[in-house]
Amino acid sequence: MSLHLYDTWTRSLREFTPLKAGEVGLYTCGPTVYNYAHIGNLRTYLFEDGLTRTLRLNGYHVNHVMNITDVGHLVSDADEGEDKMEAGSRRTGQTAWTIAALYTEAFRADLKALNIVEPTTWCKATDHIAEQISFIEEIEKKGYTYKTSDGVYFDTSKQSSYGYLGRLDIEGLQGGARVDLGEKRNATDYALWKFSAPEEKRQMEWDSPWGRGFPGWHIECSAMAHKYLGEYFDIHCGGEDHITVHHTNEISQTEAAYGTRLSNYWMHGYFLLTNDAKMSKSAGEFLRVQLLIDKGYDPISYRYLCLTAHYRSQLNFSWDALDAAQTALGRLRQNVFSLGDVAAKPNAEYVAKFMEKLNDDLNFPQALALAYEVLKSNLSAAEKKATLIKFDDGFGLGLAQWVPKEIEVPANVRAVADARWAARNAKDWAEADRLRSELTALGWTMKDGKDGYTVAQL
Ligand code: AMP
Ligand code: ZN
Repeated sequence: MSLHLYDTWTRSLREFTPLKAGEVGLYTCGPTVYNYAHIGNLRTYLFEDGLTRTLRLNGYHVNHVMNITDVGHLVSDADEGEDKMEAGSRRTGQTAWTIAALYTEAFRADLKALNIVEPTTWCKATDHIAEQISFIEEIEKKGYTYKTSDGVYFDTSKQSSYGYLGRLDIEGLQGGARVDLGEKRNATDYALWKFSAPEEKRQMEWDSPWGRGFPGWHIECSAMAHKYLGEYFDIHCGGEDHITVHHTNEISQTEAAYGTRLSNYWMHGYFLLTNDAKMSKSAGEFLRVQLLIDKGYDPISYRYLCLTAHYRSQLNFSWDALDAAQTALGRLRQNVFSLGDVAAKPNAEYVAKFMEKLNDDLNFPQALALAYEVLKSNLSAAEKKATLIKFDDGFGLGLAQWVPKEIEVPANVRAVADARWAARNAKDWAEADRLRSELTALGWTMKDGKDGYTVAQL
């Protein structure tokens, strides 16, 4: 089966055909680095990692670009309120530049902990101010902009296709917002460039043809995608919240400047929820990867948990679900390890079935179920091992590298076990039994072999 992906643009499954044979241009919206990423954000990056792995398994070379939003994302997505970076700076007492570097590094550490393959190109909004200014100039030349006292705005009423991605009810939105428009002409208009307020000294601001200020949030993605992937590329991804505002506006900017809808396929990962509400940085317990580690979880358990749900369905996070994922992962690892060395080729039939699951819009839950079928099958141990290691190119659970932890046997346990071994060899069965009970009380068990014994924790 050839690769089929769900495209939000057409609201349908489409066969994937790259624009350039053998290559895929992929843009994924990256983190806003005013705080740590939460595991909800990381569910979206895990979905994108599953996509990248699937594309590679299909033989494509993936040119993957991810931006770092380090300026311009306002507290309200509607171009109002403080810049999240400036707010983060106030919260931490450090400069916006310092926290941007800190949270970018923390984000990369999270990706590593979850075994997410890094993009081929990272790009920061603040490193591409000139590109964003020229992009706005291009939009201006085409006649889509107007100026207000606080910035340069995109006039969405001039674009008949505006809002198609989100299937927006433009008239309804306009009617609902009539009173609060301020200087904006239409409810859906958005800022391309915001001016620094006259009384304010921003930490991050630049000169522009329109005045001193900073870029709006959406323009960075249009400008950097254009620079690294061109006017029209293959796939653009993000979380489901990006459909109606951020991606809608990215499309509108690129369509105004270059006449394309930016990307051929638009894909969106659905939310991770806590207590049936969207997980967010501001609400409730702040669930970071580091918190999972601090609580004693292997972060790959979270990766496993995400594999059990399709990316186009929301997933409710609970500690019970994470416990279950950790247990299942432990068993899978142990099972794969005990199959011995990779001394055979992967089974072609199972690999073909596996690719069918992945190529059916990244059906990782079913691909995971197939792994358990392989374990139960009557393939030889060596063939099972090779097949599951091949599957792991898609899962990313690190199955090939995993080895059981060598548990150090404490000296007092070793002493009792030695004594019992000696009693047994001397045929002093009563003493041997007594020492075995002593061992059990310490939480250990021992197994006698021909030439010696092994101990294990109960
Ligand atoms: P941000 O750092 O807020 O710009 O978000 C980074 C990415 O995480 C974006 O693609 C969002 O759509 C996505 N995202 C935000 N909240 C969640 C959530 N609860 N579950 C899944 N993805 C999310
Ligand atoms: Zn973006």
